[in-house]
Amino acid sequence: MTHTGWSLAIHGGAGTLARTTISAADEAAVRAALAAARGAAAAILAAHGTALDAVEAAVRVLEDDPQFNAGRGSTVAYEGHFELDAAVMDGRSRAAGAVAGVRTIRNPVSLARKVMEQGPHVFLAGAGAEEFARLHGIEPAPEGWFEAARRRQQWEEFRARKTGWFDADVKYGTVGAAARDVHGHLAAATSTGGLTGKRWGRIGDSPVIGAGTWADDRCCAVSATGAGEVFLRAAAAHLVAMRMRLLGEDAQTAADAALAEVAALGGDGGLIVVAADGTTAFAFNTAGMYRARCDSAGLDEVAIFGGE
Ligand code: ASP
Repeated sequence: MTHTGWSLAIHGGAGTLARTTISAADEAAVRAALAAARGAAAAILAAHGTALDAVEAAVRVLEDDPQFNAGRGSTVAYEGHFELDAAVMDGRSRAAGAVAGVRTIRNPVSLARKVMEQGPHVFLAGAGAEEFARLHGIEPAPEGWFEAARRRQQWEEFRARKTGWFDADVKYGTVGAAARDVHGHLAAATSTGGLTGKRWGRIGDSPVIGAGTWADDRCCAVSATGAGEVFLRAAAAHLVAMRMRLLGEDAQTAADAALAEVAALGGDGGLIVVAADGTTAFAFNTAGMYRARCDSAGLDEVAIFGGE
């Protein structure tokens, strides 16, 4: 729907989600969480706040919810600990901030924003990112904060299998948001725990600007989820933007084409897009993607499965 108001899209990850594999109680809880995140961001946008504030607010709600693979409830790395990645991008100036491999930050998206706004750099990793967080008063969390029984179980199953470098079966839950505010500006944010069993400081697409996260007022804001290695090789989020800006494609066409490229390289996952004109689009090639969208013209949707 094209309009001049605000619009928002969020995701909570894509994966092998089918009606038969999720209980009614879990489904209701996920839908409620998506609605809460959407509500936090929509309240900001409806009050003429910025797209940047809105995407950060939505992602913070999802990071704090252990149902999602970001912040609390993140997947467990090979050695049994947590390494979190996040990025944010401001479509006004293409300012961007990102962090990777942080272990003690409650809301990595807010640290990414701080990197964008207060630091000379775009991308900080590991101990340096944590030190920057301390210097700037970013809220820490003890390692136990991130622990969720379901993720620990996935990790135990992965370790018991003793096959594969990491759990290739993406366990849905990475979170992201894209928004357009009433001032016509765009922003995107993505946050993740990565993949179960990841090693050697592995970083996926989520915090990499242009792969999992992108925003440019001239075309769109994008957040991705899925097989990070492949989204990286496709520069997936940037590919959506380039197709819109240089080929003149609409958001849905560009998202579908970018995902087709990811699929051709062997990757599964999904993308959310908010276009400069306020149009929203979802694309995924998995059975489902936790997602929601709304806008000032009355669009209001929370969905999980394909075809909803
Ligand atoms: N894209 C994320 C990563 O590779 C995982 C996900 O979206 O679930 O780190």
